[in-house]
Amino acid sequence: MDKELLAMLVCPLCNGKLKYDREAQELRCHYDGLAYPIQEGIPVMLPEEARVMDADEKLHTSPGRSPGRSQERSGDA
Ligand SMILES: [Zn+2]
Repeated sequence: MDKELLAMLVCPLCNGKLKYDREAQELRCHYDGLAYPIQEGIPVMLPEEARVMDADEKLHTSPGRSPGRSQERSGDA
């Protein structure tokens, strides 16, 4: 992704700055809790295409977090 292009991108809903997640290939708006996908290097700035982030994701956005985290923690036997 082009850094200058990224800097120009804002959320279409709130016009806020987006956070680029290089690993997930997403542009995230923490205000709306949406993650816009980047498909083949092209950001898809459509709210209907965006992924709704978990509340958990909105709070913790440490880089290097694997996108496909499992929530299977039923009993630690
Ligand atoms: Zn937004």
